[in-house]
Amino acid sequence: MRQLGVYIHFPFCARKCHYCDFPSYQGMERWMQPYLEALCREILEWKEKVRDYAVKSIYLGGGTPTLFSGEQIARLLEICFNSFNVQKNAEITVEANPGTVDMADLFALRSAGVNRLSIGLQAWQDRHLRFLGRIHSSSDFVQSIMYAKEAGFENINVDVMFGLPSQTIEEWLETLEKVCSLKIQHISMYSLKVEDGTPLHRWYEEGKFSLPSQEEDRLMYYKGREYVKRFGLRQYEISNFAIPGKECVHNLIYWHNEEYIGCGSGAHSYFNDERFSNTSDVEEYIRAVTDGTPKINYREKIGEEDERFETIMMGLRLVEGVNKQKFKARFGKDIEFYYGKAIRKLVEQGLLIDDEVSIKLTEKGMDVQNVALLEFMQ
Ligand code: SF4
Repeated sequence: MRQLGVYIHFPFCARKCHYCDFPSYQGMERWMQPYLEALCREILEWKEKVRDYAVKSIYLGGGTPTLFSGEQIARLLEICFNSFNVQKNAEITVEANPGTVDMADLFALRSAGVNRLSIGLQAWQDRHLRFLGRIHSSSDFVQSIMYAKEAGFENINVDVMFGLPSQTIEEWLETLEKVCSLKIQHISMYSLKVEDGTPLHRWYEEGKFSLPSQEEDRLMYYKGREYVKRFGLRQYEISNFAIPGKECVHNLIYWHNEEYIGCGSGAHSYFNDERFSNTSDVEEYIRAVTDGTPKINYREKIGEEDERFETIMMGLRLVEGVNKQKFKARFGKDIEFYYGKAIRKLVEQGLLIDDEVSIKLTEKGMDVQNVALLEFMQ
């Protein structure tokens, strides 16, 4: 049976963070119930199409899924379990923001089958949280982790950020220290990006703050990467670290370029050699699903050449790289047949390791991943 991931998008947030350009909105509470109904309908629409697939992961992301009650999420998951062949050991993740979950919700999620939480902290110091427009403090975060453990969660990810304006190395390492001391199983660390159209972008243009230099940003990444090792967290992707065995099954679907379906406004799918996405307009999405009219606003056929390149592009994000045997099983020929010249050149430049099992980027190669990928495009 072919395997599949399911992503379900919740586009509501209590307040929009200053740096965020995700398809998520504040002040739209009145649409939450109709949206939930539409989601249930869309899941049912998928039922027949994915009959021959085994679902190995369900990921409820956003936005802030935990603005919905534990009971509402449990009902949605029940529809998933009744509609899809969800594997017994499937990973079921819910993204949760500190300050939006209480003990009762977390118990409800746990008993509904949720076995992984992803909690957004970003920074330990409240001054950075305020600057980023987060709704919580670091003590709300600790409280959420305590509740989660009490509710029986043994697989918790925490998102953190570096490269914040005026952030010192000491503050960055303090964030990692505080998070890792809570004995979580997974950490995702990303550099702050100033995205167009966000308040942060406007303030940046107005000169209200400056960002760390490229060198300072890289130094924080290297120090952070090194620091989390002492807590047993092993790097398995450019930005992701886990206790062995707790790597994120859902994100590995993306990095292995495997199939997934996305439900909800703005959700993307890669299914049956096509990539497509739903409209990110929440009202339009609800109307279309309710009326049975088209909700997809983008669709692209993926040919074999694109699929090959995307497999390389995503796979090289992983420390383990692209497995040669799996590549051959998927595309019929050795990886060298398609990319021998690029592989040889990158090995010579010290950017790639080519061994019997896989091709993978060196640490230097990871830093210039885009440059390395250009070689695979020729
Ligand atoms: S909580 Fe997450 S999705 Fe919502 S605004 Fe903040 S960063 Fe964006």
